[in-house]
Amino acid sequence: MSSIPLENRFCQSCAMPMGITDEHFGTESDGTKSEDYCSYCYMDGKFKKDLTFKEMFEVCVGFMVDDMTTEKQARRKLEKLLPTLKRWSADSVGNENPETPEVPEQTEQAE
Ligand SMILES: [Zn+2]
Repeated sequence: MSSIPLENRFCQSCAMPMGITDEHFGTESDGTKSEDYCSYCYMDGKFKKDLTFKEMFEVCVGFMVDDMTTEKQARRKLEKLLPTLKRWSADSVGNENPETPEVPEQTEQAE
């Protein structure tokens, strides 16, 4: 059913690669596996930590930096990747395009 190639599965919160098995996935409140989030981010149907986008960004930079990846490279990659994830995409869209359009004030009162 899923059209997402296995190798492209990331946690939709922290961008951790999920691999080909479901072992890294978190759980929903009914005990089934989450389809979107890893067990570090998500358990029993809720996020384990209530991080802001910025906080998560910094956490992810820390995870990604290693012998092969500099902090600069990690940041550049995450700047593209993180905002596309499900947990954050609503936020970033909201910041750029407020969903509630400003309603012009109406002073006239209809009777
Ligand atoms: Zn995660």
